[in-house]
Amino acid sequence: MLLFVCAEHNLRAQGELTSDDVQNSIADAEQLLKEYKYEQALEVLKYARQAAQYNNDDKNHSYISNLRGQIYEMNDEIEKAISNYSTAKILAITSKNRVLEIDALNNLGRAKLKKPNLINEAIEDFNQSYQFAAVLKDTTRMVKPLLNLGKHYIANKKYKLAYQKLSPAQKLISPKSDATDRVKLNLLLGKYYLNTDQLDLANQSLDSAVSVAKKEIRNHQNNKDLTFCFNLDLADAYRAKSNLSYARGNFKKAYKLLDQHTKYYNDAQRIKKDVDLQKASIKFDVDEYKKQAQKMEEDLDEKENEEIKWRISIILGIVIILISLAFLISSYKNNLQKKKLNQDLIEKNKELRTAKETAEQVSTLKSQFISTVSHELRTPLYGVIGLTSLLMENPDAKKKNEYLESLKFSGDYLLALINDVLQLSKIETNEVKLEKVSFDLKILIEGITNSLRTKQKSNNNKVHINLDESIDSTLIGDSVRLSQILINLMGNALKFTKDGNIWVNVKCLEDDKKSCKLRFVVKDDGIGIPKSKQKDIFDNFAQVKNQNQEYEGTGLGLAIVRKLIHLHESEIFIESEEGKGSEFYFDITYEKALKEKEVLLTTGENLSIGTTNFNLLVVDDNKINQIVTQNILKKKGYSCDIAGNGADAIEKIKVNDYDLVLMDINMPELNGLEATKIIRTFNSQLPIIALTAVEENEIRVQATAVGMNDVIIKPYDTQQFFQTIIRNISKIKTI
Ligand code: ADP
Repeated sequence: MLLFVCAEHNLRAQGELTSDDVQNSIADAEQLLKEYKYEQALEVLKYARQAAQYNNDDKNHSYISNLRGQIYEMNDEIEKAISNYSTAKILAITSKNRVLEIDALNNLGRAKLKKPNLINEAIEDFNQSYQFAAVLKDTTRMVKPLLNLGKHYIANKKYKLAYQKLSPAQKLISPKSDATDRVKLNLLLGKYYLNTDQLDLANQSLDSAVSVAKKEIRNHQNNKDLTFCFNLDLADAYRAKSNLSYARGNFKKAYKLLDQHTKYYNDAQRIKKDVDLQKASIKFDVDEYKKQAQKMEEDLDEKENEEIKWRISIILGIVIILISLAFLISSYKNNLQKKKLNQDLIEKNKELRTAKETAEQVSTLKSQFISTVSHELRTPLYGVIGLTSLLMENPDAKKKNEYLESLKFSGDYLLALINDVLQLSKIETNEVKLEKVSFDLKILIEGITNSLRTKQKSNNNKVHINLDESIDSTLIGDSVRLSQILINLMGNALKFTKDGNIWVNVKCLEDDKKSCKLRFVVKDDGIGIPKSKQKDIFDNFAQVKNQNQEYEGTGLGLAIVRKLIHLHESEIFIESEEGKGSEFYFDITYEKALKEKEVLLTTGENLSIGTTNFNLLVVDDNKINQIVTQNILKKKGYSCDIAGNGADAIEKIKVNDYDLVLMDINMPELNGLEATKIIRTFNSQLPIIALTAVEENEIRVQATAVGMNDVIIKPYDTQQFFQTIIRNISKIKTI
């Protein structure tokens, strides 16, 4: 139950509070009390009490305890109130502060009154409070215990005792005294007089209480504590007044006054309800606040926990992801590296294996080549040497001719072999480049057939040439290489066929305005090649050994043929059956020349290998070179003179009519360059070709400077040699 400790709890100690902090806290707590914010007030006071304790400030500590006691008293927590008031009393004593002690004692008495077993103590406390206040002559403080005691005695119908307290109080109270005390005194006196049948005095006192109370209510309308107390006093006063009227037999008035009593009582209850509501809402707020705070704290904790868990899981997740990523990356890298290493190793292995195989192949080929070449060279050389000595020893004219023929055969063979070896090595070192000249295919094939006439006759073979009608006979390409291919193939066919037929067929496979793709077929019905040997015959020095080894040859022909066809970006094929014959075929695409006349005008080249009746001068100081060159030329049907040095050459040129001069550079007395310079003074047209073993780039500039037309580097490829000769002669012939 709520109880107002009407008008007694705002007393301040007279002495100054020492600590600002404590003082401010006390002020705050008092303000909170006015707003019924008990919990908060207690909280503030807790802090203030701690501060006071810390400062050994017993005075303020006592004051705070008094305040705390009042809060508990107001909230019906009497034990706590008594305990706090007791503390306040003790601290007041230790701090020797009588004022605080007086207050504490009065408060103690009031609280103890509510405990039936402590009533005597309460009376004692009130009496002590009064006595101490009397010593101090503090009238205000003297009045309070007196009134409290008076009230107690009246309530317990101890009117005499009551008057013993109220009477001195009446003397102490003046119109300036506290209104609450004045109302209380008059009310108690009214009751006393009423119960002691002093009705007029009673009426007087009660009226006085009523008027002060009403005035105070009017003046303090907003102060609910005061208005509540005064309304309660008024209700009390009107009840007494009603009793008084009743005692006087004035029942009507008594009834009316009872109405007044009810009215003020109801007013008081209304105010109480308001205050209770306010307190309840504050309490509710506080509880709610506490609950909320607790819930929030719990939520916060939970959230924090969750967040921490979440963070930990995120961090763990990230760490796991990072570790897995790092692992993945490293294994991926490792894998890649491994794969790359593996791949590199595989490739390196492959390269090494191929290199090893090539090296082995090269080495065997080289030794095979050297042994074959030396063998092939040695055989005819023995022949040459042997035959020469025979010739020297045996001057028999009959035998002489025979030996000479054999000697020539050996010489020719040696030359062919050397030429083939040279050409093969030139092709293998990529030194052979295809030329582009216009040529007449028909004339070319006829020329070849003619040059092979002797071979053809010796084996009694027939040669059949079939040239597709549609082939535009003037083509552009390397006619010399084509001749070489066909001579080799036809030569073989004639060689390995006896009393048979050789067919040379040229078909046009594809034809458009600019070019035509030709299929060349060289076929015979000779001895044929066994299947097992067919793939080997294109190798160097490959020869199918026959029981009767009567076939001459170097074993390089088909190797050269295949390489030349490869140069044309094509392939050679063979179809052959032992005893039935062989067929070699390949395709080459040639550009088409415009018309023959136009070609002559634009290129100035109309000579083919078929046209060979030219007169040449070979200038060389080396006798063997002279013979070799002369032989090569004569084999092709050229006629030629020899000059042993530059001066000799000049003389010969002045006298004879040559189509071309092959001039060696390094010669004693007058070298090739100087000789040419002189020749150019009287003959500017004659084609002069340098024939030298000096590096081409070195000599070409000097040769051109002195008026030479071209350069052939020794050792030369015979076909290239002829091609250069023909090209230079044809230039002059068309001018
Ligand atoms: P060779 O100088 O020995 O003729 P080739 O390289 O031209 O060298 O030929 C290699 C071998 O192929 C010949 O020795 C021969 O056994 C065989 N051969 C080539 N052409 C024919 C052919 N038309 N008929 C039969 N055998 C051939």
